Amino acid sequence: MTVYNAPVEEIKFLLNHVLDMEGIAQLPGYEEATPDMVDAILEEAARFYGEVLAPTNQLADSQGSKLEGDKVVTAPALDGIYQQIVEAGWPGLTGDVEFGGQGLPALLSIAVDEMSQSANMAFSLCPMLTKGVVTALGLYGTDEQKQTYLSNLISGTWAGTMNLTEPQAGSDLAAVRTKAVPEGDHYLLSGQKIFITWGDHDYTDNIIHLVLARTPDALEGVKGISMFIVPKYLINEDGSNGKRNDVTCVGLEHKLGIHASPTCALSFGDNEGAVGYLVGEENQGLVYMFSMMNEARLAVGLQGVSVSERAYQQAVEFAKDRVQGSVPGNKKATIIHHPDVRRMLMLMRSLTEGARALAYLSLAHEDHVHKLEDKEQAAYHQRRVDILTPLVKGWCTEISMEVTSLGVQVHGGMGFVEETGAAQHMRDARILPIYEGTNGIQALDLVGRKLARDKGQSAAELLGELKQIVEDCRGAGLDVIADSLGSSLSACQGATETLLAGEDWTTPVSAAYNVLMLMGTTVAGAMLAKSAVAAINLNTAGEGNSSFNHNKVITAKFFAQHVMSRNIGYLEAVKAGSETVMGLDVEDF
Ligand SMILES: Cc1cc2nc3c(=O)[nH]c(=O)nc-3n(C[C@H](O)[C@H](O)[C@H](O)COP(=O)(O)OP(=O)(O)OC[C@H]3O[C@@H](n4cnc5c(N)ncnc54)[C@H](O)[C@@H]3O)c2cc1C
Repeated sequence: MTVYNAPVEEIKFLLNHVLDMEGIAQLPGYEEATPDMVDAILEEAARFYGEVLAPTNQLADSQGSKLEGDKVVTAPALDGIYQQIVEAGWPGLTGDVEFGGQGLPALLSIAVDEMSQSANMAFSLCPMLTKGVVTALGLYGTDEQKQTYLSNLISGTWAGTMNLTEPQAGSDLAAVRTKAVPEGDHYLLSGQKIFITWGDHDYTDNIIHLVLARTPDALEGVKGISMFIVPKYLINEDGSNGKRNDVTCVGLEHKLGIHASPTCALSFGDNEGAVGYLVGEENQGLVYMFSMMNEARLAVGLQGVSVSERAYQQAVEFAKDRVQGSVPGNKKATIIHHPDVRRMLMLMRSLTEGARALAYLSLAHEDHVHKLEDKEQAAYHQRRVDILTPLVKGWCTEISMEVTSLGVQVHGGMGFVEETGAAQHMRDARILPIYEGTNGIQALDLVGRKLARDKGQSAAELLGELKQIVEDCRGAGLDVIADSLGSSLSACQGATETLLAGEDWTTPVSAAYNVLMLMGTTVAGAMLAKSAVAAINLNTAGEGNSSFNHNKVITAKFFAQHVMSRNIGYLEAVKAGSETVMGLDVEDF
């Protein structure tokens, strides 16, 4: 069985010394998040997910989900786990208190979600998608819809799904064809959705599908898409489940990874039509879905952190155990003594810690957006969330492929066979750059929307603020980090200037991926640099765990030398523009 111990000390350090959890707890409505409460939640989550969910990961993967008739049968290793999670109250951590949630900060919830995703990513997709449905209905549902659905979704009594994709409509949602015909107080939907995560299961006695579809007179393209609530079971006046709706699971995908998560083809309206209820106004569906998708994008970025953490822990354990070769003074050395293995472990560790800091940073800004009453201040944090979202989704998931692949490499041949579990992390991680908008689409979002929209102003604002960290590093004697971060910030500035000056439309889109990697590496590096300064300050004050603080500094230095140095390459690729990217004729491929 593969190990998993939640990195509680690391998370507490990040929350308390890098991201100002205490300040967030003072925002109106977050008063419950006292330091004692935060510590107690982190400790209990670590115990619960480590002891209860983590041991299911490998077995549930080998068992997978199956379709028997039109019924999805989930992995037996997971039997009873969902109910335990609901009973423990984990799904409702950030939920609105009016609907039974605990109203706690997103920054705390992300830490718990990280543990859940590390413990079993395939399983944790189920509560993750439900959370997205809660967000969309909380923002755009009518009072009646909120009363009908939110309490049960927040508590986890019901699950939720997101239904965008159709065979001809993947990245391009303008091509959605599912129909919604008005009938009385509702609509009748017909069409097929594919790749629907946890589209059916029996963990909950109802599943609330959010579905994108077109009304009969809708415009072509994205302006004609509306959003509907389609419950698996219709809901009676008294709130109990009524008749089965006309939605059926007609197929399960056979996938590279996340085998325990049923990825369903759902057919709507094969018989009398699936009853759906409009959310908000007609033709605004995509706008609404984006509110859910942005949250889901941050959540997918976090999955990258989680699977990387698990792969790292497993690689460390293996490296401490496997005896191979010798080093001076040690004739039978465990492989962790070999510098090349150490390089791989440091790469895994520093990328994971950098990704964690980047992902958590975005949620700290989210908390301010939700709670600040001052509109200008809230807008500042929203600008930050907007620019960080494609970085979190894109960069944290790109590095998860690298980290999990290194995890296999550390295991040698034993990594390539399924027995150790190292291969599972690599297989599981491979979906992350694909769903919730491929990383290519994230890069286009960064360059086309987030940078171009305000002519690079919010990027400049972010980069300008990060310069302070360079100064702080110098003050703390961390010149290696200061130099590397300083030149990375200049590279980011150079890249945005190159893009904004470009006249040919192919230049920014050809460069988009490299801009995303450059900015992701830089912001993650800046957060690690900030962590190193905090660790030095703690050591100077004689506070905290001195060996933890020492390791923080070394990890940040390693990242500055071995990872931020990649930024020179990213910048060169951006500057090269589209000449060679687009240089061949289509027929020549
Ligand atoms: C396991 C799994 C779970 C999923 N869960 C859900 C779910 O719960 N709900 C749901 O609705 N969907 C879900 N999806 C679908 C997922 O979101 C899509 O697969 C994804 O958006 C990509 O769409 P596509 O597969 O059609 O790829 P395509 O859109 O065909 O893309 C193929 C390639 O072309 C690139 N590309 C496409 N358009 C452009 C462009 N304009 N510019 C540059 N590059 C472009 C892409 O980046 C990609 O590399 C899931 C998919 C999988 C595999």
